[in-house]
Amino acid sequence: MITELSISDVVSQQRAYFSTGETKKINFRLEKLRTIQQVIIENEQAIIQALQADLHKPELEAVTSEIILMLNEIAHTIKHLKTWAKPKKAGVPLYLFPASSRILPEPLGVVLIIGAWNYPFQLIILPLLGAIAAGNCAILKPSEIATHTSRFLSEIIPKYFEPTYIAVVEGGVETNQKLLAEKFDHIFFTGSPSVGKIVMAAAAKHLTSVTLELGGKNPCIVDADIHLEHAAKRIIWGKFINAGQTCIAPDYLLVDKQIKDKLLSSFGKHLKQFYGDHPETSPDYARIITQKHFDRLSNFLKNGKILIGGETNQTELYIAPTLIDGVSLADPVMQEEIFGPILPIIEYNDITEAIALINSQPKPLALYFFSQNKNLQQRVLQETSSGGVCINETVLQFNVASLPFGGVGNSGIGSYHGKASFDTFSHYKSVLQNSFWLDIKLRYPPYKGKLSLLRQIMKF
Ligand code: NAD
Repeated sequence: MITELSISDVVSQQRAYFSTGETKKINFRLEKLRTIQQVIIENEQAIIQALQADLHKPELEAVTSEIILMLNEIAHTIKHLKTWAKPKKAGVPLYLFPASSRILPEPLGVVLIIGAWNYPFQLIILPLLGAIAAGNCAILKPSEIATHTSRFLSEIIPKYFEPTYIAVVEGGVETNQKLLAEKFDHIFFTGSPSVGKIVMAAAAKHLTSVTLELGGKNPCIVDADIHLEHAAKRIIWGKFINAGQTCIAPDYLLVDKQIKDKLLSSFGKHLKQFYGDHPETSPDYARIITQKHFDRLSNFLKNGKILIGGETNQTELYIAPTLIDGVSLADPVMQEEIFGPILPIIEYNDITEAIALINSQPKPLALYFFSQNKNLQQRVLQETSSGGVCINETVLQFNVASLPFGGVGNSGIGSYHGKASFDTFSHYKSVLQNSFWLDIKLRYPPYKGKLSLLRQIMKF
């Protein structure tokens, strides 16, 4: 484990190692991606246990969202890395003949990756894959709130990697401030918009580029033209996995008045099927991460009218899957990202109202739309802006390596996953190359009498 005192030393040691050029070699990058694969396969049980201890995360959720997803992403990166890393030919205007040009991806250098606590393993390792693939050194700062996963990462990473290449720094806000005072070549941050602003301000001091993977309130619009049962199950699943502590969970529901009652009764039926009559005893339902978040979420239960759920158990940090009706935009539950198992339901008469409501709010990370109506699908896509959109599905956009994942406006800057991760941690260097066998004098002074011919030539 790296202590706070040695942060500057780790950064300078990584800088020295990066300058040897070792990390730029494609075979080195492939080998290290395979090492990460090994870390995950050899320590699967320890990862599951850490996630269980931090969030009471069900094994199936841990394996699918923090292990298989990562292994798939590694396989995808290994398969495509040589193609991604190849120089790309670029066109040259005819008048520059015989020059040629190309674009060379190169690593940025030493990067800092700061994670959030809700998917505490994945949110560190997934960006790390991009950093390795692009040929960088990396310092990892897991969330101190997911204490067990943070400790696990700080113990396991040094067993497989030299700290001059990949190092883990554990700690809270103070440690982060020390890290952010250092000069990095890129900062990849996952967390809240408010801390995102702190990270960006610190990066600005060194003109360091940033990727900000932030959160926000993700609307879920439900039109009347749906397959009721499938829609209800997918919404409930996406909302209540990890007890709602998912950055892309539907935050609130905008439902067509005509279908509201039927949808609500279907929600009730499926919640029972998923978690039984007493979700508190279900092995498939997670817990709230800390007392602070439990208190914050419990206060939301005072808003509107509870239709289903609302039960809490402070010692267990348990909050039942809860549906709330009759909330207004002025209620605290609609004023900030919920990030917990509470789903406010707002009805609309016409989709125009739902779109107007969404557009009156900061741009979300994800927008969900349930409808079979192609015209309405088109309208929602064209008339709203969000990091991503899922039609007739929730959350699964995260699993598609070929879809760049990230926010827009208040929900973030930049993106990652698959090739987008490689791009995020690369600089695309433009190269123009000429040869010596031809040197047309037209561009050189004295200019007298040359302009009209140059005007003609430079059209090509
Ligand atoms: P957070 O912003 O509180 O913390 C994130 C990281 O920042 C942690 O490592 C923490 O140590 C550090 N930090 C906290 N306060 C700081 C400060 N004052 N100065 C410097 N560093 C500080 O976020 P969180 O509570 O860990 O996570 C929840 C948020 O993350 C939600 O908004 C959620 O939507 C978002 N999130 C986004 C994604 C995504 O992929 N876009 C994924 C997961 C979570």
